[in-house]
Formats: sequence, C-alpha cells, structure tokens
Amino acid sequence: MRVVLLGPPGAGKGTYASRLKRRLGIPHISTGDMVRDEIKAETELGRTLKEYADEGRLVPDEIIINLLRRRLEEPDCKGGFILDGFPRTIPQAEALDKITEIDVVINLNVPDDVIVQRLSNRLVCRRCGAIYNRLTLKPKRDMICDICGGELYTREDDKPEVIRERLRVYRERTQPLIDYYRRRGVLRDVHCNDPTIDPEIVVDEIISIIKRETEKT
Ligand code: AMP
Repeated sequence: MRVVLLGPPGAGKGTYASRLKRRLGIPHISTGDMVRDEIKAETELGRTLKEYADEGRLVPDEIIINLLRRRLEEPDCKGGFILDGFPRTIPQAEALDKITEIDVVINLNVPDDVIVQRLSNRLVCRRCGAIYNRLTLKPKRDMICDICGGELYTREDDKPEVIRERLRVYRERTQPLIDYYRRRGVLRDVHCNDPTIDPEIVVDEIISIIKRETEKT
C-alpha cells in the first residue's frame, strides 16, 4: 500500500495519516515533521530549513527530495507507506515516480473556512507530534497531550499571516498535482465539509478506498 495524502494545509493530512498508520500498520512519512525535527536538532540543514518553514515557503525541491528518498530506503517502508506533505510540486511528483510507484492518491477537499478554523486553532504535542484543535479535538487536560503527557504548542507557521501565505503557495505549486494524478487515474476524492466530524469516520472512508484500489492491482 503506497499512499499519498494530498490536500491544503489544514485539510487534516497529519491527523488522518497518524490514524491510518495505527490501523494499517504502515509508516506515516510527513516531510513537514522531518523538516521540524531537523530544525529542532539545530543542524546546519535545520537552520536553512527554518528560514523557509517559518515563513510558510516551500523548501527547495532538491533538499526535500533527498530527505524523502533516504527515508523511503529504510526497511520499514518495504510493505508500503503513507506520504503526508509530499509531493508538493510537479518536480517532486516526477522525482517520486522515479523512486517508487504510488497505488492511490487521496485528495482531501476542504472548504477554506474550515481550513482557516483548523489551522488557527491547531495545537501540536512537542514530544510526540499528536495533533489537537482548541474547538473540535480538545485535549482532556489543558495544553497537555492525551497520549504522552507532553506539552502542546502552536506551530510557528500557524499564525494568520503565515497561514495566508501557505494557502497561496498551495494553490500555486501543489494544486497542479491534482490534475497530474487525476490524468493517471490514481486520484480519489474525499470530501470533508464538516469541521466537527469524528476523524475516524473520514479514516474509515479513506481505508475503504485504499483497500478497493490496492485489491485491484
Ligand atoms: P507541513 O507540516 O506539511 O505543513 O510542512 C511544514 C513546512 O515544511 C512547509 O511549509 C515547508 O516549508 C516545509 N515542507 C514540508 N514538506 C515539503 C515539501 N514536500 N516541499 C517543500 N517544502 C516542504
């Protein structure tokens, strides 16, 4: 099962991918998490990445493709994976085609008002990366992760002016991938109009699509 989750920032890619990982037993590969880990580790590369990520700009293709290629070579990816946040540009999709074959691309369709609501209320666990929402997916204890007890925080790039830039970048650079994958016949649409819907319901729908598509091949 080689799956790509496509959709604007705030579509729920990370939330769904972490649940898909648990239910399907395949790794969740988030290039955004990889970028944030590198920044946290304060490496030379991390310092370069921070300049892009904090402003909501895309990291150059070459850097992110190399990070992703190395990750996909790890043994846990042999039985499949869920890609979250990659590819984000046509050159990245072309590079991915050279690395591996993709079984299905799930295109998450979410109205703009839901996206802005999600991003401006998103909280993330500093320790395990679990995602919460102040309005719709509250932690049991204020600012504490239900799963690991870590501290919750607001991502640097979830500030209103950066959210606007990330949505602009998505439309310009990532949206063309919808046509790219639709033409190949691997794109499947999932509509998430209700911000209060239990994520497991959307995950059920995604799993049934993945099963249908991978059983065909
Ligand atoms: P995300 O958590 O997926 O929203 O990613 C956070 C930030 O990491 C993005 O705003 C970019 O700066 C960077 N990033 C993550 N994935 C990619 C990618 N595939 N291409 C370029 N930049 C990326």
